[in-house]
Amino acid sequence: MFKKRVLQGTLVFLFCSPVISSQQPKTSLPYTPSLDPSSMDTSVQPCVDFYQYSCGGWQKNNPIPSDQVNWSVYGKLYQDNLNLLRTILEQAAKATERDTVTRQIGDFYAACMDEQAVDARGLTAIRPTLDAIGSLTGIRNLASLLARLQIDTGSRQMMFGVGSTQDPDDSEQQIAELDQGGLGLPDRDYYTNTDAKSQEVRDHYVQHVQKLFELLGDSPATARSNADAVMTLETDLAKASLTRVDRRDPYKTKHKMKLAELKSLAPAFDWDRYFRELGTPKFAIVNVAAPEFFKALNARLTSPNLANWRTYLRFHLTNVSAPYLSAVFVQEDFDFYRAYLRGAKEMQPRWKRCVQYIDRDLGEALGQAYVRDVFGPDLKQDTVKMVQGIEAAMEQRITSLDWMSEETKRQALVKLHGIRNKIGYPEKWRDYGPVDIGTSDFLGNVRHATAFESRRDLHKIGRPVDHNEWGMTPPTVNAYFDPQMNDINFPAGVLQPPLYDAKLDDAPNYGDTGGTIGHELTHGFDDQGRQYDAKGNLKDWWDAEDARRFKDRAQCVADEYAQFVVVDDVHINSKLTLGEDVADLGGEILAYIAWKDATKGKDLKPVDGLTPDQRFFVGFAQWACENERPEDMRVRAMTDPHSPAKYRINGVVVNMPEFARAFSCTSNQPMVKAPDKICKVW
Ligand SMILES: [Zn+2]
Repeated sequence: MFKKRVLQGTLVFLFCSPVISSQQPKTSLPYTPSLDPSSMDTSVQPCVDFYQYSCGGWQKNNPIPSDQVNWSVYGKLYQDNLNLLRTILEQAAKATERDTVTRQIGDFYAACMDEQAVDARGLTAIRPTLDAIGSLTGIRNLASLLARLQIDTGSRQMMFGVGSTQDPDDSEQQIAELDQGGLGLPDRDYYTNTDAKSQEVRDHYVQHVQKLFELLGDSPATARSNADAVMTLETDLAKASLTRVDRRDPYKTKHKMKLAELKSLAPAFDWDRYFRELGTPKFAIVNVAAPEFFKALNARLTSPNLANWRTYLRFHLTNVSAPYLSAVFVQEDFDFYRAYLRGAKEMQPRWKRCVQYIDRDLGEALGQAYVRDVFGPDLKQDTVKMVQGIEAAMEQRITSLDWMSEETKRQALVKLHGIRNKIGYPEKWRDYGPVDIGTSDFLGNVRHATAFESRRDLHKIGRPVDHNEWGMTPPTVNAYFDPQMNDINFPAGVLQPPLYDAKLDDAPNYGDTGGTIGHELTHGFDDQGRQYDAKGNLKDWWDAEDARRFKDRAQCVADEYAQFVVVDDVHINSKLTLGEDVADLGGEILAYIAWKDATKGKDLKPVDGLTPDQRFFVGFAQWACENERPEDMRVRAMTDPHSPAKYRINGVVVNMPEFARAFSCTSNQPMVKAPDKICKVW
């Protein structure tokens, strides 16, 4: 349920991993029930701390593996998926008779696992590109070099982001988009915050930059001054960047303009040459998501700065390539990004990293074998039925809202009926046929697959939208709502036990997966999603008075979550998490209604001493069982639009009188709010 809204660009969550016993390759997924009494801690009262009551046993039994930055039910399932994918890849690498898909994933895996060959190649893998950066003369020549770097790395660290996106005013059309980027730290706020911890992170980052320059052969003194130059440029870019909270407002990132307007916004950059080198189809309109960023960038694109830009690009090319280079680079990348920033104690074994790279780079090739193994027609049918039940609950809920006018309700129902459901995997698999994959050049494989994806994305500019595309690969343990597609997406990976559990009855399944489906559906109507209409266009369909009442209700949720502490003195930034918090609450309410409908007239019995209603809620809570490292909590407090697991459970049940009834809570207990304080949006 690390649901996210997917727009242009890819953001892959790389969590997960092993306990010793699960290190062995697997041919099927191990089974854990979606409601597990041994994961509970019944020494805690459910009405005092429901998360602890439901997950305390799990937390005790599941310490964070040393190579992980956090450990959760979702993370464990992803680990199981990686084990299964490992078996698929090892077989693909060895097989003699292979179709194209099997050959591509097998060769990619073999090349990645050949650590000796990777070490022997050393820096030669990126040497020609480093040389090209080193010989850059004249600021206008930057355009073609940058285009090539962006295509090959697919990274927004290369000055800024580029790609195609759905036109916010005509969601059936793809247009070009430019966006802020260019930073090596996970968020722009790291560069601007004045607290001691942020200063410490900046100091460590500069040391990391210096270390990479030293690995490239610079003397310590030169490496240090180069690192300072990189930091100065990045700080300028960060200051001109929108915050994550700003970026949740779709009007703040909508600035469609003609190419001529872009040229006058940032005249120092040769845009004609840039787009020619990118190979984009001809286009009339580009959305510049962050105009102030490009103005600031333009101000730095002056001849005296050219040497600093060469230094900057030299670092970022190395930084984004480090995981695929020789051992010293891999180690430095781990030391800063995973060990220092997020608290991991040990690097993930190579096979595990390789599986994740292939899931990222050739995901719809690898995913084919995965769904053959774990996602049969029965599972698809069952989960589709559940989605329909949740949608019916949403319809019921909208119709009966006491704060919304009839006209806005009518529009809301049009939007609800316009939502497309995508379950399991794409109807048509992406063809990676033209991607050059071999067994001898790991970094080459990564670059070729990345360039293929960059070009595929850019070639969509000016074309109609393909509604069959997915923004997540089938083994992903996650789901998303896309406001412009107006679709909800559930990869096969998130519909496995202990999340969706075909062996168990409806109560825990509706509490868990039903809630996830409701969560994604509610995103269509959260503070951000509600601004898009049934077609996915950014168009206000709300009566003004209804919109005001919605905002008041959402504010109740924002005020509640703002009180929760993430780590030390860091509170939840509830302006960042509002959409997710609203979706968590709405989703569970919908799941409860749909569960009651699905089991109407059935004589449900207690199991393991828990009533059916109690099992619904424990099933809900147990999706979120998690152990966290404080370092990772800090990063997530700044970057993750989701609240910490504990509050995604306790923050919801306090607003559901059904919960208090299920556990006979009394009005003075922590999990019970006074009736007039309960937040109710959808
Ligand atoms: Zn979400």
